[in-house]
Amino acid sequence: MSTLEKMKILTDSAQYDLCDYVNHNKSSQVNLPGIYEATGHNGCKIPLFKTLLTNKCKNDCKYCINQSKRNFTRLELAPEELAKAFLNYYNRGIVNGLFLSSGVDRDEDITMEKTIETIRILRKVYGYDDYIHLKIVPGASKDSIKRAMALANRVSINIEAATPSGLAELSSTKDYNKDILKRLHWIDSLHGKSTTYPNSTHTTQLIVGANDESDREILHRMEKIYNKTKLKRTYFSAFSPIQETDFENKEACSTNRTAKLYNADSLLNDYHFKLNELVFNENNQLSLTQDPKILAAENMNIFPVEINSAPFVELIRVPGIGIKSARKIISIRKKIPFKNKNELKKLGVVVDRAEKYIKIDGAYQSLLENFQ
Ligand code: SF4
Repeated sequence: MSTLEKMKILTDSAQYDLCDYVNHNKSSQVNLPGIYEATGHNGCKIPLFKTLLTNKCKNDCKYCINQSKRNFTRLELAPEELAKAFLNYYNRGIVNGLFLSSGVDRDEDITMEKTIETIRILRKVYGYDDYIHLKIVPGASKDSIKRAMALANRVSINIEAATPSGLAELSSTKDYNKDILKRLHWIDSLHGKSTTYPNSTHTTQLIVGANDESDREILHRMEKIYNKTKLKRTYFSAFSPIQETDFENKEACSTNRTAKLYNADSLLNDYHFKLNELVFNENNQLSLTQDPKILAAENMNIFPVEINSAPFVELIRVPGIGIKSARKIISIRKKIPFKNKNELKKLGVVVDRAEKYIKIDGAYQSLLENFQ
């Protein structure tokens, strides 16, 4: 089988690993396998080459296209072959980075050796110095994680579920605490120690809707991880059934649910809300129709807050005021107090949302009856 034919299969299997991409194969090079558009920090589009090294896997994750029981063509790219295929794209300006993941073929560390060898060839043999995101497989050794982090800009391990029992619903071959959480904490302890990539980051991913875990359980796990580690962010993958897997007849998870989880997760990770500030229904789920920040605000007794004196932690709890605009408010009001809401618009505040929750220079910005 040619490298291109192998890539078509392996890059297709890699689509379930999320990496900020917004559209699958929506770049101008639609006929080439494995090209995904990621969104950079400033919103710009970054084309990445995303592939598995192999789709051979000894694990039995019931939702996964590569689960061990599934009968289909198993193959693998050799490290040199994969490095050259990627460089072929990169040198033609088609992609700006690599996202490399892999199934676990027989042994975790043999798999890690092959993925590390691929990025070692890129860095040391071909002098490639651009973006690499390497997926750490569950059960990988600390030594292999350390060597991966010396070569990659970002690493990640998928936690997949929020609880040990939640993972047990998904797989009988992975141990939540030992194979996943312990490894995530190793990654965190090694974070910032690479002399080559001291600003490297780590992320994780959960599959949502494939087990019975509630949004509260998911966000409870994420709050614990954010409090204890420097995890950059979490990706929520909406479960979608794949034919010939154990879960082929299970109902798909709506992307509306994952969208609300992203909103709520940002409140925990970026805004440092506490879990008990978020609002869940009687089934411990987030509302699918209302914004988690607005629902949280409706339950707080701090409003209206005075724009000219409220502390940062209160400003960022106002719907319509983000972290950047709260910082700008604090910086400006030291010199010139705000007089009206139009001044806030210029800072990026969504005034229509915020006005109900604020006072400016002592004056309410919304009718009092709106604030019941
Ligand atoms: S470890 Fe599980 S999720 Fe990952 S490739 Fe193997 S079967 Fe799929």
